Amino acid sequence: MTRHYNFCAGPAALPAAVLERARSELLDYQGRGLSVMEMSHRSDEFVAIAERAETDLRTLLNIPSNYKVLFLQGGASMQFAMLPMNLLGGGGSANFIQTGIWGKKALSEAKHLGYRCHLAASSEASGNTAVPALDALAISNDAAYLHYTSNETIGGLKFDYTPVVKRDDGSDVPLVCDMSSNILSGPINVSDFGVIYAGAQKNIGPAGLTLVIVRDDLLGKTVPGAPSLFDYQLLAEAGSMVNTPPTYAWYLAGLVFQWLQNDMGGLSAMDALNQRKADKLYAAIDASAFYSNPIARANRSRMNVPFVLADAALDNVFLQEADEAGLLNLKGHRSVGGMRASLYNAVPEEAVDALIAFMADFEQRRG
Ligand code: PMP
Repeated sequence: MTRHYNFCAGPAALPAAVLERARSELLDYQGRGLSVMEMSHRSDEFVAIAERAETDLRTLLNIPSNYKVLFLQGGASMQFAMLPMNLLGGGGSANFIQTGIWGKKALSEAKHLGYRCHLAASSEASGNTAVPALDALAISNDAAYLHYTSNETIGGLKFDYTPVVKRDDGSDVPLVCDMSSNILSGPINVSDFGVIYAGAQKNIGPAGLTLVIVRDDLLGKTVPGAPSLFDYQLLAEAGSMVNTPPTYAWYLAGLVFQWLQNDMGGLSAMDALNQRKADKLYAAIDASAFYSNPIARANRSRMNVPFVLADAALDNVFLQEADEAGLLNLKGHRSVGGMRASLYNAVPEEAVDALIAFMADFEQRRG
């Protein structure tokens, strides 16, 4: 069996150690004679798996006790709808910082549902190559929350600061962050946020699971008529089991949390490794006249590194040769073209080294 290097933006590489552990427990979970996939979500075994995953996540991210952790379905995109439904019940508007496609989708979904929205800042006019400065954010006085995307997966743009803001009267505006593509890539200060959410299929586990971390005081503000399955408070009260949760994805996420803590040394170690991986690849791109990346240095994503070739006519040859060399899924998002290497936690440093060597060789032969 050969496992190639997978640079997919999502569903993304999973740690081999996690997949091996899952394989070893696939048919018979710890002597119980059945698979985790075949267990009742209400069974003692599964409840223990679920609780362990939450406890481990709380340890990894140092989540304070006044936050609830929800293990949901529907993807990060469903949160685009659930957020205004849960946070605008007391009135006010949803404020947005838009730095790319995902932030834009979050705003258009809230608008589509008829909620009052306000664009506090956007980097669209400048091609989303740098994030707006903190003092450029124009928050509305009726802001119920401020939404932003800490890492834009398609553009490869990350915030280099946390946009903690206040209304004119000095009161805090709850900060809501789509961390789908950079959660668990390093430590964060959860207390800066009202809500953190992330689709699992990058740094957490397989697709089908969505994490929501929500501060207690934001619960109970749901708009009238919201479906029960969309209501954070009901979901929190039911331990994310209002209905059948995505049990196997939850279990695998738990294995990833154990891997991060026990095998990788926790999030500070992960942070250093991720920085090293990204620094190497950007250095190789910057040192070459053949490859380029347009993002302002301070905002370059460590997780998703888009780059273009000097001659776009070579894109398909590049992708084909890379694939043959065991470097998979380097094609950029269909909306932007070019290449994109996603360097999530489960992508080892050797994969980045192999990619850099391949890029240098390709440039020499074809550039
Ligand atoms: N937000 C970000 C930052 C993403 O990268 C993605 C998916 N690539 C989404 C939201 C949408 O996630 P999902 O497909 O889970 O709805």
